[in-house]
Amino acid sequence: MTITTPQELFLHELQDAYSAEQQILKALPKVIEQTEDEELKESLAAHLAETKAQVNRLDKLFETLNEKPSGETCMGMQGIIAEGEKGLKEVAPALRDLAITGSAARIEYYEQVAYSNLIAMAQALDYSDEAMYLQETLDEEVEAGKNVMEAAERLLEAIDMQMPQS
Ligand code: FE
Ligand code: FE
Ligand code: ZN
Repeated sequence: MTITTPQELFLHELQDAYSAEQQILKALPKVIEQTEDEELKESLAAHLAETKAQVNRLDKLFETLNEKPSGETCMGMQGIIAEGEKGLKEVAPALRDLAITGSAARIEYYEQVAYSNLIAMAQALDYSDEAMYLQETLDEEVEAGKNVMEAAERLLEAIDMQMPQS
């Protein structure tokens, strides 16, 4: 079906975000299980709980729009998750947490772009309640992204000290 109106495009993008969140819900528990660093593990677990609330928030948005959340597959998120899972198989245990921060950061930044686009569209379409709810989610994604980057910096510092002196 061809998308012909901005409203339809907004709905399409919203369904794409819904698919992305569902994929994250499915993938994150396995990642948390493999994370050793306690702080990173806790922040990923907190974001998993947050992601569940984000899905509920999207469910409510679809209800108010009288539309269904299903129907789209976010191929971008599929790729990011598949790449992350591949990376985890390839990396030595000592570098696993750092590899996890790399793919988690990709996920969070991808989500931030998706929600920023959605908010801009919602505002232009005068969907002010929708824009407000999406902003709540965007704020959480920004926070999650910062936490991941902080964990990465901390892990990198620890690795730095283990490097042989040249
Ligand atoms: Fe999310
Ligand atoms: Fe997508
Ligand atoms: Zn997220």
